[in-house]
Amino acid sequence: MDFPLPDLAGGQLAPFWQAAQSGQLSLPRCNDCGRLDWYPKGECRRCGGARIAWTALSGKATLFSWALVRRALDPRLAAIAPYISAIVTLEEDADSRFVTRLVDCSEALLRPGLPVAVRFLDLGYPSLQTGVTAPLFSPAEPGR
Ligand SMILES: [Zn+2]
Repeated sequence: MDFPLPDLAGGQLAPFWQAAQSGQLSLPRCNDCGRLDWYPKGECRRCGGARIAWTALSGKATLFSWALVRRALDPRLAAIAPYISAIVTLEEDADSRFVTRLVDCSEALLRPGLPVAVRFLDLGYPSLQTGVTAPLFSPAEPGR
């Protein structure tokens, strides 16, 4: 398969991908200041603390910004275009910025602050199945 896939078993993102395979969004959190520290760096960007631990999150977030990608820059992603590349703010940290992909979201809904919720779907969803589950986001259902 000619689709860019993450290394599930090795590297510093292995805990992230392993959690995703079992339906959990897990990111590094600083035990000194309580802030999320994504992308993993090994020490907290905010306070310099080294007590970082992978932490399960609610998966609730709001849309910070986005781009509608009509033509994939990487030709290996052509099969999933058009898609919405997004940055979301996770509810556990108002300053967090997590890069993801929005699915099942019409352009008309897009606005800063849109409530979104994590969904665990195949990374290649919907037109190409990769066997790798990824935390993607969709507009949150009202009342959830
Ligand atoms: Zn910290």
